[in-house]
Amino acid sequence: MSRVFNFSAGPAALPEPVLKRAREELLDYRGTGMSVMEMSHRSAAFIDIAARAEADLRELLGVPDNYRVLFLQGGASQQFSAIPLNLASAEQTVAYVNTGSWSKKAIAEGKRLARVTVAASSESTGFDHVPPQAEWGVPADAAYVHVTPNETIGGVSYDFIPDTGDIPLVADYSSSILSRPLDISRFGVIYAGAQKNIGPAGLTLVIVRDDLLGRARPGTPTMLDWSVHAEADSMHNTPPTFAWYLAGLVFEWLREQGGLEAMEAINRQKAATLYDAIEASNFYRSPVQPRNRSWMNVPFTLADPELDKTFLSEADAAGLTNLKGHRSVGGMRASLYNAVSQQAVDALVAFMQDFESRHG
Ligand SMILES: *Cc1c(COP(=O)(O)O)cnc(C)c1O
Repeated sequence: MSRVFNFSAGPAALPEPVLKRAREELLDYRGTGMSVMEMSHRSAAFIDIAARAEADLRELLGVPDNYRVLFLQGGASQQFSAIPLNLASAEQTVAYVNTGSWSKKAIAEGKRLARVTVAASSESTGFDHVPPQAEWGVPADAAYVHVTPNETIGGVSYDFIPDTGDIPLVADYSSSILSRPLDISRFGVIYAGAQKNIGPAGLTLVIVRDDLLGRARPGTPTMLDWSVHAEADSMHNTPPTFAWYLAGLVFEWLREQGGLEAMEAINRQKAATLYDAIEASNFYRSPVQPRNRSWMNVPFTLADPELDKTFLSEADAAGLTNLKGHRSVGGMRASLYNAVSQQAVDALVAFMQDFESRHG
């Protein structure tokens, strides 16, 4: 068996010990004689898996008691619709900060369902930074403020948690949740698709402050109403059982690594290794302003885009995969989620330096 260094933006690398554990338990989950995939979500064994996953996540993130954690389907994209339906009427103003591709998708969906004000945008400079909060114009009557703390495609990351006073702050943490400690109490709602830094695709986490439940507008489809899922412990219908179980294994693994403080130190070092190598060369370039460079998604370009194809094929041959930048921005992108090791980043940097020496 040979596993590559996988820099995919998502679905992304999972910790190898987690995959091995899932393999061990695949046919017979702890003496039940069946796979988790074959189990009723109402069975004692699955209820236990579900409860332990939630407890571990709460412990890792320090989720306060007045927040509910929902294990849903539909991806982060479905939450783009659920957010206005749960928090605003069609006539109400809702505010969004536009920092890149995922912000734009959230805004487009918001516009279908409420009156969107773009409170700030970095589009005119090619999404190379996060507009400081002093530049935002949030209407006083906004039902919520939506942010994308880590833009997965552009590699742009907030270096602050916005202060929106009494207006609930809603954040799409799909690509940076669990990468370091986070003060959940600063947010009204946090949501994330699992396939970046949590587990396999098919699971979506929503962490919502309980005073924001029970406010869905009339006509909201049942499956998009957070309070329905909160009341049913995320089992209003069949939840994504296997993905929930796998996420639970990832949470256990994170606790074994020392929790999110330990992950912060590891992730900081991984990002520094790659950005320092980019900065030290005249061949590679980061398109993002230094203070907003993401630790999780690192886009970079080559001095000569004609070399992109060669770079990617040589990287692939060296066991370094999924480095192609998103089709909307081009160049390269290395995603350095929790399951990507320092060893993988060291191998990438060594390859980049060798490539530069031969083609630079
Ligand atoms: C991947 C991603 C999404 C979309 O997630 P889906 O689960 O595919 O809907 C939304 N926002 C961000 C920041 C992402 O990285």
